[in-house]
Amino acid sequence: MREQTQHPGLFPKMYCSVFGHHYVVSKKVTYHVKEYTCSHCKKQLTTNSNGHLIELTPKFREINAILERIHNNRILRSKEKTLASSIY
Ligand SMILES: [Zn+2]
Repeated sequence: MREQTQHPGLFPKMYCSVFGHHYVVSKKVTYHVKEYTCSHCKKQLTTNSNGHLIELTPKFREINAILERIHNNRILRSKEKTLASSIY
């Protein structure tokens, strides 16, 4: 009889129900909002506006995409400002 090797990808859902999800940050949307993915079952969570973790539904994915765009624009603009002030 062969000993069963540790293989998280084999029974990911079972693994999570026994040991709990193992979330890792998969995307930083803004300074406060992040997306998390369970490294075993690929379940995704996100931070909502109250700072709570909730399931990443297509609706929230859409909201996060918008937030990310606004956030990146802001960073871009503040960089331009810094650049401009260092020139003048
Ligand atoms: Zn999981």
